[in-house]
Amino acid sequence: TISPLIAGNWKMNGVSQSLDELTELANLLTTGEAPRAVVVICPPATLVAAVAAQGASSGIMAGGQDCHANASGAHTGDVSAYMLADAGAQFVIVGHSERRADHGETDDQVRLKAEAAIGAGLKPIICVGETEAQRDAGQAESVVAAQLAASIPDGAGQHEVIVAYEPIWAIGTGRTPSNDDIAQMHASIRARLVDRFGPRGNEFRILYGGSLKPVNAREILAVENVNGGLVGGASLLAKDFYTIISAV
Ligand code: 13P
Repeated sequence: TISPLIAGNWKMNGVSQSLDELTELANLLTTGEAPRAVVVICPPATLVAAVAAQGASSGIMAGGQDCHANASGAHTGDVSAYMLADAGAQFVIVGHSERRADHGETDDQVRLKAEAAIGAGLKPIICVGETEAQRDAGQAESVVAAQLAASIPDGAGQHEVIVAYEPIWAIGTGRTPSNDDIAQMHASIRARLVDRFGPRGNEFRILYGGSLKPVNAREILAVENVNGGLVGGASLLAKDFYTIISAV
C-alpha cells in the first residue's frame, strides 16, 4: 500500500511572519496523534530554506512550487531544482495549471523540469487537469492522459514521482468533482501509469487537488486511488491544514 501524502501549496502567499503558522502546524503534529500522511509544505521560494529548517523537527518537509529545467545559468529570476535541494527541499511541484496558464508552460517543458528535479534528487509532483469546457465536452480523461504521456519522464519508473490531478475548474472555486468522478479519473490515471510503467505504476502516488477543505477532505481522501492531496487555500491556516492531514 502507498503511504498517503498531503502537500500544501502556498502559491504566492507567505512572508516570514507566516512561519508562525508553520510553528502552529508543527505543534499540532507533534502533540496530537502521529499523522498517517507524509506532510509537505511548498512555500514561495523565499521561504523554502526556512520551512525546511523549521519543519525538520516535526517531520514537515519542504518543496518548491516550480523549478527551471537547467541546473544553473543565465535565466534571470528562475530557480533551479539544485537550488531548491540545496535549500533543503525534498519535493517540487511542476506543471501546476497556474504555471501552465501564466507562463505558457507546455507538457514538454514540464517533463524537462521533472527530469531536472529527479536529477537534483527531488521528488517531482507533476500536475495535470482539465478545464471545465474540456470536461463538459467529455474530454477530461483524454486531456489528462495526453498531459500524463508528455509530462512524465520515461525514467519516472525508477524514481519517486508523484502525480497530482487538479481539475482547473475546482481550483480556488469551492467546487469539486463528485466522488465518482474523482474515482473514475484516478482509476484512469492509474491505468495509464500501469500501461506505461508496468506494476511499478501501482506505486505512484496520485494526489487530488482543487478546493480540498476540512469539510470534504475525509470523503475525498477515502476515494480509491486517491493517495493524498495537494491543498491550496486551506493550507494557509495551520488548523485547517492539520484537519485535512488528520482526515487521512
Ligand atoms: P485550492 O485548494 O485553493 O483550490 O488550490 C488547489 C491547488 O491549486 C493546489 O495546487
